[in-house]
Amino acid sequence: MKTDIQIAQEAVMKPIAEVAAGLHIDAEELELYGKYKAKISDEYLEKIKGNPDGKLILVTAINPTPAGEGKTTTSVGLGQAFGKLGEKAIIALREPSLGPCFGVKGGAAGGGYAQVVPMEDLNLHFTGDFHAITSANNLLAAMLDNHIQQGNELGIDTRQVVWKRCLDMNDRVLRNIVVGLGSKADGTVREDHFVITVASEIMAVLCLASDMEDLKARLGRMVVAYNFSGEPVTAEALQATGAMAALLKDALKPNLIQTLEHTPALIHGGPFANIAHGCNSVRATRAALKMADYVITEAGFGADLGAEKFFDIKCRMAGLKPDAVVLVATVRALKYNGGVAKADLNGENLAALEKGVINLEKHIENLQKYGVPVVVTLNSFITDTQAEISYVKRFCEERDCEFAISEVWEKGGEGGVALAKKVIETLRTKESNFKVLYEDELPLEGKIEAVAREIYGAKDVSYSPAAVKQLEKLGQLGFGKFPVCMAKTQYSLSDDPVLLGRPEGFTLNVREVYVSAGAGFVVVLTGAVMTMPGLPCSPAACRIDVTKDGMITGLF
Ligand code: ADP
Ligand code: MG
Repeated sequence: MKTDIQIAQEAVMKPIAEVAAGLHIDAEELELYGKYKAKISDEYLEKIKGNPDGKLILVTAINPTPAGEGKTTTSVGLGQAFGKLGEKAIIALREPSLGPCFGVKGGAAGGGYAQVVPMEDLNLHFTGDFHAITSANNLLAAMLDNHIQQGNELGIDTRQVVWKRCLDMNDRVLRNIVVGLGSKADGTVREDHFVITVASEIMAVLCLASDMEDLKARLGRMVVAYNFSGEPVTAEALQATGAMAALLKDALKPNLIQTLEHTPALIHGGPFANIAHGCNSVRATRAALKMADYVITEAGFGADLGAEKFFDIKCRMAGLKPDAVVLVATVRALKYNGGVAKADLNGENLAALEKGVINLEKHIENLQKYGVPVVVTLNSFITDTQAEISYVKRFCEERDCEFAISEVWEKGGEGGVALAKKVIETLRTKESNFKVLYEDELPLEGKIEAVAREIYGAKDVSYSPAAVKQLEKLGQLGFGKFPVCMAKTQYSLSDDPVLLGRPEGFTLNVREVYVSAGAGFVVVLTGAVMTMPGLPCSPAACRIDVTKDGMITGLF
């Protein structure tokens, strides 16, 4: 069997200018990054503003196994399948982070015969957006420490610095560090921290900004520290906004690449799906809606995190109205939710499937609360048995839910035709009455409780003493109208990663709450959430190489 990278490298790509021409993008409206990657210019985005919107299709999933359940693969394959049917579709996805790429999960360009290419470029440096974000983040950190060094006119309390440095790497030793050691000229000593670039607030800001003006306003509002009176100090107060925006000038432009079957794909931004909202940029999604009849986009992790935040944060802020949801399940993940260990997922196990399928049931119910029609798809693995597939199909149909199998990993677009047809039929026959889960006016506690009870199925919510204080303070500072960005384990509907299936009667434990004022949401931490991951005992990086001719191997 061929690996993802082998399949990707065998692909015959079209020059990206040719893919763009298919979308009526002229050569001068494209900023080429080599032959197969390009950024879309502001002029083009301006030109298409008046076009009617296509249909917006969100791809999300049940609670996953540690390997990921194929949301990206399904998104890409569905886009390819629309192409097979002669329909005009665009895929809008996140850019991958180097952390997972060199760690456990590998890249994020899809898989099998449903991938976006050039996959090596996408998974490594791509068009430099993440480097730009890293630079902007660390410029702000440097300006902050310099401000303290130069007399600290703003009265920044060095014990209350909240801005962290960042790096796009899984590097656990940087989680907690001390900076400023040495002599007086070497700065003020303080405890500092690194987060992975995808967890930087600048990543979330870039992804939610509608244009340069909005980007600057958001960057300026970011809280970097509190002063000795407990008042927030912003990036604007440090006069850092302009220089950060200058670094981000090109990163703000959506990137265009193609699938293995030449379907256009806008790949832009990549916020973490825990302490941030976990989907590609608003600019890319909005542009895609103007460029095609069908836009397929993915939200990270399971639907309890990814879809909830896609709806309650991204759609709320950007005024987007999703038309349908594709809920990806795998027999493997359902069995995993039924208590089977990761190593034993390959054998037929109907008992475990029946036990785990309640996870799918809860996600179907949750998505229906948003008023958007749901199509369940089984991303089929070669280890799935006919009895297992039939069981899931019947389960969905008994719940009045559309169902289609997807074989895009094995067969590319052809393997997604049944799903694409089901989606088109759903869009034609079922109306989307999209609504967010809670109103802006609800107090923060009410918002947290709405998500905990309605989406996670919690009995109640408990707050640590610190969280109680933080919530009160954020209300006083005027951040109470923001939506909440829940950070929780992706493996369970609860905040406990071992409670699989459909846990009930549990209490959601809120540990810490803070504001991302530039992004425009309040982050709610439950359980242990990692903002700087570490590498595993045998990192994927140990198996990645490049030949003397420049061919990369071992990426997956
Ligand atoms: P997600 O987006 O849900 O995290 P991905 O689409 O990135 O998941 O897929 C995760 C991994 O699983 C990829 O390496 C991909 O090649 C593999 N994969 C996805 N679907 C299948 C399938 N049907 N059969 C085998 N491997 C698959
Ligand atoms: Mg993915």
